[in-house]
Amino acid sequence: MEIISDKAAMAARSEAVRLEGKTIAFVPTMGYLHEGHLSLLKKGRSLCDYLVLSIFVNPTQFGPNEDLDAYPRDEERDQKVAREAGVDAIFMPNNEMMYGPNYQTYVALEKLPYHLCGLSRPVHFRGVATVVTKLFNIVRPHTAIFGEKDFQQLAVIRQMVKDLDFGIEIIGGPTVREPDGLAMSSRNAYLTPEQRKDAAALYKSLNQAQEMVSAGEKSAAAILEKASETILAVPGAEIDYAKLCDPATLDDVEAIAGPALMALAVKIGATRLIDNKVLEP
Ligand code: AMP
Repeated sequence: MEIISDKAAMAARSEAVRLEGKTIAFVPTMGYLHEGHLSLLKKGRSLCDYLVLSIFVNPTQFGPNEDLDAYPRDEERDQKVAREAGVDAIFMPNNEMMYGPNYQTYVALEKLPYHLCGLSRPVHFRGVATVVTKLFNIVRPHTAIFGEKDFQQLAVIRQMVKDLDFGIEIIGGPTVREPDGLAMSSRNAYLTPEQRKDAAALYKSLNQAQEMVSAGEKSAAAILEKASETILAVPGAEIDYAKLCDPATLDDVEAIAGPALMALAVKIGATRLIDNKVLEP
């Protein structure tokens, strides 16, 4: 496994792989790898000849009062885990390499970011779209794999790839969960043991919502009220949003008429957790 921090070296490696007639799969991450990341790497490994993992805690997707500095990091462990997962190259640039002096170009979508996480994190998706564009241009993959846990991010990337003709196949991977249902996330490391137990309320509320829909409930308001009740039973929990929306546009739905995305962002203490589930009538 190669560890590459220089973007020209990464681009040259990819070019050499392509010239050999091989295909490249790419999994972009912010590191502190867990089973969720590993499931995407496994998918990438099965689809292509050459597997690239990037680890970059991208400053442009964090707002001024967010957890950029506190974001958990463990390079040594990540490298070991990546090697075991069959990664061929880890691309791990530093901030200077990605955003040099006088950096001034950003990729911004006009609709999808004005929903869900984009409302409480106004620069987030601009930062995501920009860094993923840069990573795609450096790594030049045939296929890239993203987690459905970040549903809105996956939608943004798919839209951007279509609109800007990247010619890269985007694949979504299902959310990997802890035994109690909590979606795996590098940010789970912030939770105290008590909060960690309480955090299962998000998954519980998603399942309750599916049960209500399966029993014939159509009213988004009724479903979301039940979800709020379950989540707010947790001491110190604060709902950023709990929404039912159209999975394609992310517009709110008032009555369930087909598959609907239930999306949650909840703060437990200082830790913001997100989760989602497509509810099927
Ligand atoms: P991150 O390092 O959190 O930026 O995530 C990198 C990639 O892993 C993104 O495509 C995420 O959607 C994906 N991911 C994060 N958590 C999970 C999970 N629990 N299951 C599946 N994919 C995940």
